[in-house]
Amino acid sequence: MSMKTDHYDAVFLGGGLASGMMARYLKREHPDLNILVIEKNTTTHYNPGESTVGVAGLFFIRDLGLSTYLYLNHLPKCGLRYLFHDRETHNGKPFDVTNCSEIGPNILPIFPTFQVDRKRLDADLWRLNREIGIEVETGNLVTDVEFGEGDALHKVQVSSNGKSRTVETRWVVNSLGRGSKTNDIFDRLSPITIDDEHLAAGAWGRFTNTGDIDLLGDDAWRKKVGYTARYLSTNHFMGRGFWIWAIPIGDGVVSWGIVYDKNIIRDLTQQDAFVEFLKEQPLVAKLLEDAEIVDFQSHPHLTWKRESFCSTDRWACVGDAHGFLDPFYSPGCDVLSRQAYLLEHLIPEQEPAQLKEKVDLVNEYTWHEYDLVKLLYKDQYNGFGSFEIFNIKSLWDFHSYTNRLLWYFYDRKYRDGDFVKAALKTKDKTMELTAAIQDGFRDLALYLTETGQYERQNLGEYSLRQNRFRIEEEMLTGYDDAISVNNHFQICKFTVSELIESRFGLKGLLTNRMAQHALSVAELSGFKLNEEWLESFCGKVARDLESQLQDKFGNNGYHVTVDGESFSQPIPKGLDDLPEDVKSYATNLWQEKAVNTVADSLITGPKSG
Ligand SMILES: Cc1cc2nc3c(=O)[nH]c(=O)nc-3n(C[C@H](O)[C@H](O)[C@H](O)COP(=O)(O)OP(=O)(O)OC[C@H]3O[C@@H](n4cnc5c(N)ncnc54)[C@H](O)[C@@H]3O)c2cc1C
Repeated sequence: MSMKTDHYDAVFLGGGLASGMMARYLKREHPDLNILVIEKNTTTHYNPGESTVGVAGLFFIRDLGLSTYLYLNHLPKCGLRYLFHDRETHNGKPFDVTNCSEIGPNILPIFPTFQVDRKRLDADLWRLNREIGIEVETGNLVTDVEFGEGDALHKVQVSSNGKSRTVETRWVVNSLGRGSKTNDIFDRLSPITIDDEHLAAGAWGRFTNTGDIDLLGDDAWRKKVGYTARYLSTNHFMGRGFWIWAIPIGDGVVSWGIVYDKNIIRDLTQQDAFVEFLKEQPLVAKLLEDAEIVDFQSHPHLTWKRESFCSTDRWACVGDAHGFLDPFYSPGCDVLSRQAYLLEHLIPEQEPAQLKEKVDLVNEYTWHEYDLVKLLYKDQYNGFGSFEIFNIKSLWDFHSYTNRLLWYFYDRKYRDGDFVKAALKTKDKTMELTAAIQDGFRDLALYLTETGQYERQNLGEYSLRQNRFRIEEEMLTGYDDAISVNNHFQICKFTVSELIESRFGLKGLLTNRMAQHALSVAELSGFKLNEEWLESFCGKVARDLESQLQDKFGNNGYHVTVDGESFSQPIPKGLDDLPEDVKSYATNLWQEKAVNTVADSLITGPKSG
């Protein structure tokens, strides 16, 4: 029975993190909007979404005005850290953390990020959002939505304490999360695809009495990271087919979770199996020696997506209610931040034709982003236990993220429809290049496994290369498309060169100017980590050199043979018998050093100890 009718510009169904962030953003941008959040619970609980990265950190601080709040109520985060171990060395011996290979920062990041306690954050957002004029009604269950046709308002049915009422609104935003039955209302409007191209499952829980990683190891191991707190990082304990996270969320509670490829790892969705698996990992077992589990959650299939993000019929599905890919790299709150910008295109009143154009654009863009980001995870879990592979992959993934996604966000690009349009124009090229490179990581994992070399760098290495100071400094001076595009090109060349050097045991490709020059966009897009590609590439470098000799010495018939070994040689084969002046000219050309701004700005840190 209807008790009361209210009118809103936007009603958010569900009061979790998606609505907390997006409703707040909309209200801050458009104080005149009447916004209601309807949440069924009266208290909040632990939930994933605890580790934030660059875009989300910026969004919380800049767009949501929560900088002081986060520093005072949550934990500053010391970046993402990855630990690998060599099973043979550790086999049967007492575990020694200093033997682990590690990728991770030795300072807090330039762009602040946080480890958040969702239980606290969600509840605080209810309060903080009320303070800026958003109505947040807890203990209210959304039971149905009657969608208004044309300009008619939508009617949201709400039930509380056995009473029901109708709320009227221009826009309905579905932020019901993943498991809510009420999501069914949207299934017909925006059907769901359970994505079976990426078979990731997850199990996680919060623990008290987790050991302190900063109390392990010797002084040299602490010094390696400049005595910065590894504890405050999102620590990843890496293995073939899985990764385990440890995220401190304050008050002595640490969130632990496993995400795994179901093709490789047994089912871990029951608490016993989850805990048993954690205890099988030497470093994790050490940290959990005295720990007690507080809660447990799991999901057998993480990856799914709805057909549309939004409609001209004035509804949108955001956050987990829209879809989810994979929590590796902690992208959840980043996605919510970008979605907040996209949603803001839609909700303010506008002409139908204008809305239609934006809806089409946003729907296409959200699909593109999903397809693109999926490439980072799909078929990649097989390589997750190898430092060697991940040291290359993380450079590509981190630098591309900073140089493209983060920089765009820093410059508020997602608020600009023309920018979104331009991104879509080049989407096929972007996909092709990204797929070529990600396939390279997949193929390197297969090769190193087949040849028994998968863990050959898992002992005592330390990599600081995810620090991206130069790009971050450039970002502070404002977005520059030419610089960003050039950075991206350099990152591609660097990554492909390292993949080839690692796969074929070669040296010198990265520093050889002629080789780097031959790595054109077309060459990179068609890249394959196999002998045929290398042979054809070497042929191209040889022809480039022949043509330069021809330019200099006329039509001379000089024939150059380049193979993978040539890049570490003073001069390619076949040139030894040439006249001295030709040989000397060719040698100079061959020995010219390449400039790669990414490679040159890498900070490599102390050598393995
Ligand atoms: C394994 C895993 C690890 C993750 N790790 C991270 C990470 O480290 N960092 C990160 O940024 N993201 C992470 N994420 C993603 C993050 O969890 C999501 O982005 C985030 O929780 C999405 O919030 P949401 O509001 O969409 O959903 P939720 O937070 O689930 O909120 C949905 C809300 O709707 C309410 N509700 C449901 N039905 C009704 C109804 N009928 N009426 C009223 N209210 C209702 C619920 O009570 C709930 O409060 C992770 C996700 C997974 C699965």
